[in-house]
Amino acid sequence: MKAKLDLMKEIRDEVVNLTSSTIYKYRIENNFVPVIGAGSHDASIMFVGEAPGANEAKKGIPFCGASGKFLDEMLSSISLDRSKVYITNLVKDRPEENRDPTEAEISLYSPFLDRQIEIIKPSVIVCLGRYSMTYIMKKYGFESELLPISKIHGKVFKNKNIDIICLYHPAVALYNGSMRKVLLEDFKVLKTYIK
Ligand code: URA
Repeated sequence: MKAKLDLMKEIRDEVVNLTSSTIYKYRIENNFVPVIGAGSHDASIMFVGEAPGANEAKKGIPFCGASGKFLDEMLSSISLDRSKVYITNLVKDRPEENRDPTEAEISLYSPFLDRQIEIIKPSVIVCLGRYSMTYIMKKYGFESELLPISKIHGKVFKNKNIDIICLYHPAVALYNGSMRKVLLEDFKVLKTYIK
């Protein structure tokens, strides 16, 4: 069996060469790099954001900008080290000017996320924002329970082998201070998954 690191490297190489992507040209023109993911390949908790922002696409590191700063604050509020979890995104390249990813982009990039989930086999997937929420909830058979994130944030959906938790995207706390509390409160549910 191939080592987890080798499997992740295969994903990286395929995404690097993803010339069929509508945002490939934008990546090259801006000297951006794809953001594959970061953290432990043995993590029990896996976070899935939407797509890299500008800081992330410059550095190749997920959540390393302003939203990432708040994510780090939430992680430390439950004494969880970033290196113990795995953090990635649904779409691995930054869409132009931070626009929402298209259906076609989600279809093109989501198989890479599927493979990452297969490699890591987390006990819980934490969806950050509505794009990863929609994708992951459907993937694990919770389509009929899909509601606006305002209705299901912080709730645990239990599949046979994996739990799904949807949270507001950390960026909402940057625009709306009262959301900080909501996110910090929702984050407490993750304590039970810390190994
Ligand atoms: N927002 C995301 O969804 N992902 C990142 O990596 C950074 C910001």
